[in-house]
Amino acid sequence: MLLLFVAPGAGVSAQRRRSTPATASATSAARAAAKAARAKAREDLAKATAEYKASLQKLLALREANVVKVSAQHDKLKELFTDGIISRREIENSDAALVEERAKVADVRRQMEAADMMLAESLVEDEVAPLPVFVPGAPTDHVRRTAYIRYNGFASWSLADAARIESMFVSKFGRRLPISAFGQTELHNRWGYDHRHAMDVGVHPDSREGQALIAYLQSAGIPFIAFRQAVPGSASGPHIHIGRPSHKVYR
Ligand SMILES: [Zn+2]
Repeated sequence: MLLLFVAPGAGVSAQRRRSTPATASATSAARAAAKAARAKAREDLAKATAEYKASLQKLLALREANVVKVSAQHDKLKELFTDGIISRREIENSDAALVEERAKVADVRRQMEAADMMLAESLVEDEVAPLPVFVPGAPTDHVRRTAYIRYNGFASWSLADAARIESMFVSKFGRRLPISAFGQTELHNRWGYDHRHAMDVGVHPDSREGQALIAYLQSAGIPFIAFRQAVPGSASGPHIHIGRPSHKVYR
């Protein structure tokens, strides 16, 4: 980027010097157009995300109401079971129904988070945010204020390496790696993002888990992008994308 502003050097031939301004201006016009197209794409995605989340919010309200209803029924059935009026089988069925309704609620919440994560990843596509590069040992104050941190790594990475990241995480934190997208998902297809060689982990980069994961990826040379938010200033969409950045596939 800096090169664009470097004055033509003294050693450049006269012919070249004549052609440079025209070429430079064509190049900078093309870049400006591409930048505008990316900004527009991100704006569209932000709008689509808001609409999509609004529809999920309605679905969430319905499903949460179902949980309340099924939970109240279940409480009544428990009393009937205690009084010996209904069978164990009936109470077990009711219990399973409640578990299912709660899982449906969790599923909608996951879909909402996935939408925010995708919006966060469009920051990289668009380069709306400054492009901080993770420098081991650098003061973290600088990167802490930014929307995301990008580390390019040196290792060849594939989704097959996910298992060793998972085992590090399990041994350190005693729970499974919260993977919210493994490779290409339906949402990526829908909005035209290539996410085939990447996975998203739903941890905040500044959390203890996030910091441990970042340290591990960096020591293993695995590329990642750690997102603090989807929209600068917001608290939505934090996650760690492992792999090279996903790109919008323009059609
Ligand atoms: Zn991702």
